[in-house]
Amino acid sequence: MFDLSSQLASQTISKKIVWAYLTAQRKVSGEITHSDIQRMTVELWATGVRVVLKKAAPTIIEMAKKGLSTIISIWEIGRTIARETIDKSIGLAVTRKSDRIYLVDSRQGGEKHTVAAYPDGISCSCMKFKCLSNRISNEAPKLRSAIARAEVPGTQDAIALSEQYDTSTRRIVETDHIYCHHILACIREIFGSSSIQDYLFSYSKVTKKKSTAPLIREYSDAEIAEAQDLFGSQVAKKITPPVWGSLNIPTPKYEEEEF
Ligand SMILES: [Zn+2]
Repeated sequence: MFDLSSQLASQTISKKIVWAYLTAQRKVSGEITHSDIQRMTVELWATGVRVVLKKAAPTIIEMAKKGLSTIISIWEIGRTIARETIDKSIGLAVTRKSDRIYLVDSRQGGEKHTVAAYPDGISCSCMKFKCLSNRISNEAPKLRSAIARAEVPGTQDAIALSEQYDTSTRRIVETDHIYCHHILACIREIFGSSSIQDYLFSYSKVTKKKSTAPLIREYSDAEIAEAQDLFGSQVAKKITPPVWGSLNIPTPKYEEEEF
């Protein structure tokens, strides 16, 4: 079992999130009650999130009348957190303060949150974003990956995984970005994007600022195999920047091979 701080746990593997997962799995139904919260324990283990729900009121529990004990995989819980974050982002008004600064309504009304756009990421002033930024990499790095790599619904795209070409090392750098519902509202409303990678592609167009790192996409294994069939095994790696020509970096020699 990992020692997850209560602050991080409440922003990620909260009992409400676990309840949302169990509801989707038809293990429970109805709104979570105070009594459910009291009977439930949630712990982060190496194998996933362990949930124990002691015998519950029959009106609340349909399929788990005798209570339940289960482990939810990190990827499943990451996906659940991502879906909840997307749901919370719907309908939040976003206003532009400057080219790179946006104000996003909070769910409760009142204070707005400030979202700042950068060429290599995007940040928010809210508690959730701060808590995740300060804690998740140290306390639960796998959970960070799972939340970032959850798919945008209906697509294969990860919500918050970016791949950028580092011109100094000539390597692809993968980053699991941290996000909150304000960020998702902002990238959707202002940048027309549903993922952080999409946002990074749109960044310079929308903000009129230059990106620092060229963005690339890797070919899939199937595409490489197909290329190797056609061109031989020297087709080893796979880089396609969307705008090679405009980038001031050496063109890889396999770029000339069209496939
Ligand atoms: Zn936020």
